[in-house]
Amino acid sequence: MANPSRRIWKSIEEFLAAGESVAALTYERASADRFRRSKRVGKSVKDQHRENLAVIARRGWTHLDSFRDNDLSASRYATKGRPGFELLMEAIASGRGDVLVVWELARTQRDLAVYVELRDLCLENGLRFWMVGDRLYDLANKDDKLSLGNAAIQGEYNADNISAGVQRGLEGTAIAGMPHGRAPYGYRRVYDPETKEFVRQEPDDTEHVSPAGIKYTPAKVVREIFGELEAGRSITRVTQSLNDRKIPSPGGKTWARSAVRLIGLTPTYAGLRAHYQNIYKAVWEGIVTPETYWAVKRLLSDPSRVHTRPSRAQYLLSYIARCEVCKGPLARVHIPYKGGFDSYRCLDRGCGEVRREEMDDFANKTMIKWLSDPEIHAKLIEAAGTSDEETQKATIEKTRLELDLENWERQAIAGSVTPEFFGKIQVDRIAKIKEQEEIIESAKIPSILRGLIGPDAERRWGKAPLEVKREALRLTSRIEVAPTGDPKDRYLGNLGKRVDWDWIYGKKTKN
Ligand SMILES: [Zn+2]
Repeated sequence: MANPSRRIWKSIEEFLAAGESVAALTYERASADRFRRSKRVGKSVKDQHRENLAVIARRGWTHLDSFRDNDLSASRYATKGRPGFELLMEAIASGRGDVLVVWELARTQRDLAVYVELRDLCLENGLRFWMVGDRLYDLANKDDKLSLGNAAIQGEYNADNISAGVQRGLEGTAIAGMPHGRAPYGYRRVYDPETKEFVRQEPDDTEHVSPAGIKYTPAKVVREIFGELEAGRSITRVTQSLNDRKIPSPGGKTWARSAVRLIGLTPTYAGLRAHYQNIYKAVWEGIVTPETYWAVKRLLSDPSRVHTRPSRAQYLLSYIARCEVCKGPLARVHIPYKGGFDSYRCLDRGCGEVRREEMDDFANKTMIKWLSDPEIHAKLIEAAGTSDEETQKATIEKTRLELDLENWERQAIAGSVTPEFFGKIQVDRIAKIKEQEEIIESAKIPSILRGLIGPDAERRWGKAPLEVKREALRLTSRIEVAPTGDPKDRYLGNLGKRVDWDWIYGKKTKN
């Protein structure tokens, strides 16, 4: 029988959407074999606690309480004081907590007995969810229940935890914001000359001279790549420019487009650290600002933008806004009189026109208002969150594939794998990611909007490249402009009345 004071979840979806109203308990426990073997095995109780708190923070839950058993030899059958395990059992039995967060499951039979007992207690008392490392278990699901069962726990540890353990180790470092692996191009690492311990990672400002006689520093090259991409230049053009000046690639050869693209997609350069879909502030200084990084990431990684040519459109609304009379496109024209100004004019028939600056201003304000409206935000999130089990699975699989690809990217940048090998991996992973994306596509907010919505919309919109803004406008809005109706003044403002702005996002069916 479930304890009446504990919330009863109708579904796992309801639980996943509940955010801070989910109360989380953590349990940290020293592994039995940690003390048996001379070699250090597993994470310390303190590290487990830190990881567990990070999991809670990322999920947006509320941390209710933590229980720990530091010294296993004295814990379970101890006579002095009560072990964390008993206190945890008591908390569960008394109806506290919606989810139990633990770092890892048992490594030994002796540990296992503890977890099986805990699981049974949770089942009896209606504590339905367990978070083990990165994996959520639903005890109402028979497969999950089985996974938490005796034999499965052992088997799973032996089979899966080797690589998962490595990744979680990375996550621990990610949370601490410390670098791992080799220093990426553009950075250098400073070590203490005596202890040989890592001190810091800093932009590599060592000056070099290219065979063409051009002075450069690796950090400057990185800054240049981001700057050019953010300005909408193509990867080909940026690559060409580096090779023209004979600036060597990270591997000391000529630059390939893929190398330029990789740099543009690496959060390291913004002083950020990526792990799974989470970005952490790193301990090192960024070479570019996070805003630049996000702008470039949006430009390079949005699948809907692959076929757009960023440098082509120069005006916010040309060919997006339409004429209310003939429904034809408005295009920008320059008006040479009255001091000279730009206008958007009905291209096909010249039914009417509007001053470009005024119209752009109107459109910017309208979009910012919409993007920062909490109700709109909630609606979009809701639309994205009503996913069935298939969508959930696809999301998890996509995240896993992306992480995997990122790891290979890092290695490719560091030069630990050849570009050819990376190329093969990349093709394979991108195809698999696309498969998952197709499954989740209908339920998801387009990535371009995801990067813009929220309370910070005004700043984000302001920084967004023109092509991103145009894409967002196309995606969300149908904009028609009526003529002034005044034969003496074709440019009269009054846009509040002349513009018919229809929000099509969410109404439109998938095409
Ligand atoms: Zn017209």
